[in-house]
Amino acid sequence: MTGLLRSWVDSANTPDTDFPLNNLPYGVFSTGDGTMSRCGVAIGDMIFDLCRAEGDGLVEPAATPVFDVSHWNDFMELGPEAWADLRTRLTELLSEGSEPLPGYLVPQAEATMHLPFRVTEYTDFYAGRHHATNVGTMFRGAENALPPNWLHIPIGYNGRASSVVVSGTPVRRPCGQLKGPDDAAPRFAPSARFDFELEMGAIVGVPSDGPIGVAEADAAIFGYVLLNDWSARDIQAWEYQPLGPFQAKATATTISPWIVTAAALAPFRCDTPPREVPLLPYLQEPGPMLYDIALEVALRPEGGEETVITRTNYREMYYSSAQQLAHHSSSGCPMRVGDLLGSGTISGPEKDSRGSLLELSWGGKEPLELAGGGTRSFLQDGDTLTLRGAALGDGYRVGFGACDGTLLPAEKRPDW
Ligand code: MN
Repeated sequence: MTGLLRSWVDSANTPDTDFPLNNLPYGVFSTGDGTMSRCGVAIGDMIFDLCRAEGDGLVEPAATPVFDVSHWNDFMELGPEAWADLRTRLTELLSEGSEPLPGYLVPQAEATMHLPFRVTEYTDFYAGRHHATNVGTMFRGAENALPPNWLHIPIGYNGRASSVVVSGTPVRRPCGQLKGPDDAAPRFAPSARFDFELEMGAIVGVPSDGPIGVAEADAAIFGYVLLNDWSARDIQAWEYQPLGPFQAKATATTISPWIVTAAALAPFRCDTPPREVPLLPYLQEPGPMLYDIALEVALRPEGGEETVITRTNYREMYYSSAQQLAHHSSSGCPMRVGDLLGSGTISGPEKDSRGSLLELSWGGKEPLELAGGGTRSFLQDGDTLTLRGAALGDGYRVGFGACDGTLLPAEKRPDW
């Protein structure tokens, strides 16, 4: 494995930056000076302005500009060869020893980040062994924790692309229909069990119109983001049978602003855990397609101090995104550029590696202690939830930046 690749951007050469030259993640930014939001690449604490670089002919992935727009979809459409060429060219331009181009840099501190791509569709999975076991144990008992299909199929549901938001966007506590206690009638009220789910999101960069194999699916994934699948557990508990979650998951899904490419993560590939029962051939992986990415979640009450409430790793997943994408396409379902696949909640085997408050507080029975005093079973108004993640190399990290959101109180409505 290579060590830190050095850049003429000094801040990219520190071991604690998320964005060394090894990373080169793609985002969309604006600077509030009247210029439009446009494509850029993070390097240290700066953004290299790809729109300007393209305008001046420093990078030319296509005959017509693709970086003067507020999404990466046009570039993704160019395909894997163009992806590899751009990465090679950026590595060359930003390497130590190349002529510095300070005029193309924008400090990240002065930029506003936007959704990095147009989310064409969004699907969320349920592919973490520990998460599924924890949730199943709470709802059905330890003997029936895993549904009978779980070890054979990456279970998923079609979510909403319309409510995917970028890190920093406030999230309003939803109202919904909640089951009354015992036999009482249901009521419409603010969710009292609003939760997060720590996930990775895979972004499809190559479209398909029929079934594709796992290797082809792996090659079709452009990159990854951190993903918080905000979840209203009380709405979910009442609505989910027999078709799965609906309004419980429709309020918002927050993603991190930088797309970390599959190319940047390549040194961190790892195998999925051993199969407990053999998978059908169409789901078998021909090589390592999961990634070793350290993950953590922090909770900060309004005006209070931050507590890291969980630490886990993406390698805990039972199914890779490539397997999920192959399965998604297996019926002939067309997949589009900009399709977003949520991994499913990433919980580890330990109590402090669980990826949701539902699990961390065991359904509210064991509230978490916060560093600044107070406890949490589920989120309170004003709480800020922050996901962080990085693949850890020798003397460098390939990080994702923060994925955060602050919970606003429910809107007062006349019907509750
Ligand atoms: Mn989820």
